[in-house]
Amino acid sequence: MSWFTRKDKGIQTPTEAKREAPDGLWYKCPDCGKIMHTREHKLLAYTCSNCNYHERIGSQEYFELLFDDTLYTELDAKMSSGDPLHFTDTKAYPDRIRATEKKTGLKDAVRTGHGKVNGRDLVVACMDFGFIGGSMGSVVGEKIARAMDYSLAHRIPFLMISKSGGARMMEAGFSLMQMAKTSAKIALLDKAGIPYISLLTDPTTGGVTASFAMLGDFNISEPGALIGFAGPRVIRETIGKDLPKGFQSAEFVQEHGFLDFIVDRKELKDRLASLLDIIWKG
Ligand SMILES: [Zn+2]
Repeated sequence: MSWFTRKDKGIQTPTEAKREAPDGLWYKCPDCGKIMHTREHKLLAYTCSNCNYHERIGSQEYFELLFDDTLYTELDAKMSSGDPLHFTDTKAYPDRIRATEKKTGLKDAVRTGHGKVNGRDLVVACMDFGFIGGSMGSVVGEKIARAMDYSLAHRIPFLMISKSGGARMMEAGFSLMQMAKTSAKIALLDKAGIPYISLLTDPTTGGVTASFAMLGDFNISEPGALIGFAGPRVIRETIGKDLPKGFQSAEFVQEHGFLDFIVDRKELKDRLASLLDIIWKG
């Protein structure tokens, strides 16, 4: 069976000559298992063509989806975290920050920017779940507060895109202070008559839900997003009861009066633009 065994020994193929499918060419929906081309998935604003599952995406993707020609001015792009409590868990907090910066290419769990959405000015703050679970520490609170100051100074509506596990443990009390700080800024926007729209995406929980995420003039969400304060297990153990079906899904939360509407991500930009048309004369 000479055709079956390799006669020449030591044949080496250089890596660049190997024909392999490039990484990440295909996307598999974690909900229904449908396999799609990543290009198609991106064209559908990272939603499934079969079941409309909304994949979690980061600030870069939202900025690309929302801002005209992906043109925007990023605010406070270089701000990064200190270590006020000299906190150490399995790693020292500054080491964790540095490792996460390296892994994600981000400076913290929120990015803020000013650009145009269908020709209308909008300041957007968007959280990144990839940065320590989208946790809210001092940098997140400060960047949101400063972006709101920018909105106030230039009289531009504000969109907050939340995606967070809650407060950042490593900053303990300093994280909780961000709830009050951001809420106070939202009150100033309200006083100035500048719209504040809050988009809650999967997942929005903890101190973020308990502060700026639920304080919008409009609170809106994406389909199927998990929205809550404490997780279902904690609640079940506390109240000793089984929770209703669909508990803490965007649809459930809307039905119980906490959301104004749910928007498909493919229509997000146009829906925001027409909402601004109605509520904002600039
Ligand atoms: Zn699917």
